[in-house]
Amino acid sequence: MNTSLFKEFQFEAAHRLPYVPEGHKCRRLHGHSFVVRLEIIGKIDTKSGWIMDFADLKAAFQPIWNKLDHQYLNDIEGLENPTSELLAVWIWDRLKPKLPQLSSITIKETCSAGCIYRGSETHLGQ
Ligand SMILES: [Zn+2]
Repeated sequence: MNTSLFKEFQFEAAHRLPYVPEGHKCRRLHGHSFVVRLEIIGKIDTKSGWIMDFADLKAAFQPIWNKLDHQYLNDIEGLENPTSELLAVWIWDRLKPKLPQLSSITIKETCSAGCIYRGSETHLGQ
């Protein structure tokens, strides 16, 4: 039986969405207290009794967090259009190689709005 484990991180950042219509509020420069929820799936280790040490999850994410916190996201390579969806993909692409058990990334821009990305070869629609 697989079990999932999650940990939430928070960072502050500014962004604007350059491709929304003129007059859309998200086109203006603004900031969010982003919440990133990382979920991993794995078997519970018989000896340790856990899937993974939360400290290892934090250590894997730390270099990415360092790149995002208190930044203007549009300036970061690959985040020129920093929607929650594309931010989740951006984090996934950097974290998955270090954390193969990663099963989903949830990004929350506000308390009530966010997205969940579960990894895909074809995340971009045409
Ligand atoms: Zn926004």
